Amino acid sequence: MMELADVYEAYRADPAFDHLRTEHIVLVPGEGSPIPKIMIVGEAPGATENTARRPFVGASGQALRSLIGDSAELDPADYFITNVVKYRPPGNRTPTWQEIRDSLEHLRAEYVAIGSPPIVVAVGGTAKAALAPEGLRHSGVLSIAGQPFEFGPPESGKTVWVMIHPSYALRNRDARPRLEEDWTRFGNWFRKEFS
Ligand code: URA
Repeated sequence: MMELADVYEAYRADPAFDHLRTEHIVLVPGEGSPIPKIMIVGEAPGATENTARRPFVGASGQALRSLIGDSAELDPADYFITNVVKYRPPGNRTPTWQEIRDSLEHLRAEYVAIGSPPIVVAVGGTAKAALAPEGLRHSGVLSIAGQPFEFGPPESGKTVWVMIHPSYALRNRDARPRLEEDWTRFGNWFRKEFS
């Protein structure tokens, strides 16, 4: 099993991302509990995350962190937060399918390095594309967000939740209550299943 630091070292050394690396673009690693029950996965760092070298610290990051803390009421000891793609794509564009695919083996190694947590939360369409079970690949985020789906071998007890990306709610204010409801439902489900 790789240590987390080695997972990021391997990502840094992967020639598949040469086109994203520049003098100013740095790898943004995941952060949080070293043995979480929940792995929360976003799309890719933005400008603020690139500068801070931390995931989800810009405007949508703050929105996500308030959903996690205030709506789901999660304890920081229970989760780890990261992104599918670990370099900021130029101009904040959405990662390409190739960039997502090239990130998958690293994401899997990162998942194993934090102890293969039983719950994965895929935030937004990119994380859904990377992580949702085969049968959900063609469903839109809005239609499947906020409910548990099993993944992995049957009876493995692994669950994925897809969530609407908070940047969507920043653009569409009307969506905010839906995000709060989904995260509140997630927090209640989590406490029922895991305490
Ligand atoms: N959006 C993401 O998907 N990830 C971040 O880290 C920041 C914004």
